[in-house]
Amino acid sequence: MRQFEYIRPADVNDAVRILSGGGKLLAGGTTLYDLMKLRIERPARIVDINHLSDLKHYDSSGDHELVFGALARMSDVAADRRIIRDYPAISESLWRAASQQLRNMASLGGNLLQRTRCHYFRGGDPYACNKRDPGSGCAAIEGLDRGQAVLGASRACSAVYPGDLAAALIIFDAEIDVIGSGGERMIPLEELHREPGDTPHIETTLKPDEIIVRIRVPTTPLGRASTYLKVRDRESYAFALASAAVALQMDGDIVLGARVALGGLATRPWRARAAERLLIGRRFDEAAARAAGEAAVEGAKPGRSSGFRIELGARTVADALMIARQRT
Ligand code: FAD
Ligand code: SF4
Repeated sequence: MRQFEYIRPADVNDAVRILSGGGKLLAGGTTLYDLMKLRIERPARIVDINHLSDLKHYDSSGDHELVFGALARMSDVAADRRIIRDYPAISESLWRAASQQLRNMASLGGNLLQRTRCHYFRGGDPYACNKRDPGSGCAAIEGLDRGQAVLGASRACSAVYPGDLAAALIIFDAEIDVIGSGGERMIPLEELHREPGDTPHIETTLKPDEIIVRIRVPTTPLGRASTYLKVRDRESYAFALASAAVALQMDGDIVLGARVALGGLATRPWRARAAERLLIGRRFDEAAARAAGEAAVEGAKPGRSSGFRIELGARTVADALMIARQRT
């Protein structure tokens, strides 16, 4: 067994100080321990933040913004009455993720920072993987690519960002507050995850000693007519083959506001602004929903076995928009 040091910091600043010397934060542990058991993550030091009250503040009642401490548990937010009523896309993205036991443990901060489920990444040493071992190659290029990204991939890596929540949060322009040795700063959530480019091992714009303190979601009338639709190989306890987070605001039959993001298809949570532009100001009907679906997957590149997920993505967006329309 590999030895590691376990530390409980006194407060958030202490956690930053300890993290500056290396290590990994521990929230619910449902991703971190998993990857440690697979020997993908090998931290010499684990910094347990679960008792830090600054990261727990959670208030969904505000007039201007919803505030989720990074340690808010997925199951608590999924079951929050205001979120279910006013931001169903957020609640549904959480209900459709993982299992109830995992959601009871897992935090929103940890969920945003979960790593890819690419088989070759998780398979460990027998497989070349630029994300795990920069410069070693990518076993997925010649391997099974049914589940690889069709949007945002590079020659170095085509791993899908697997989380559900991020897509639902970026349609509402969520922001995250982080703290590190350089002080506090805000990052639009849409800018947290990076496309792989030549450096797939650098997955986010967070610095190594930065901690997510909270996630903030500006309140918006678009929330009520929103949904998160997830298509997968089986109906529960599976990652998305394609998913869509959408929201609509209508004036009669005319679209006043539209938000669209894709999950399960891209190397990062994927806001589909071309689809939004196509909808706004247009009469909403099935043809408009279909056209928006096609716009959302514009530029997608099929692999040998992943091409079917482009059409699936377009249909998922169209179906999600029809559901959202019924909620306006
Ligand atoms: P941890 O495992 O504690 O941490 C995850 C990572 O985030 C670590 O690198 C940790 O250092 C870092 N971290 C944690 N908190 C912070 C913070 N505040 N600031 C900076 N870094 C931090 N997810 C989905 O979205 N959809 C699914 O369908 C789904 N299915 C799953 C099925 C299985 C079998 C499993 C094991 C997981 C599944 N997940 C799914 C992923 C699950 O949602 C994540 O494991 C979970 O959300 C991670 O949260 P955590 O609090 O346990 O994070
Ligand atoms: Fe690694 Fe990315 Fe290739 Fe998967 S797709 S094997 S994560 S480099």
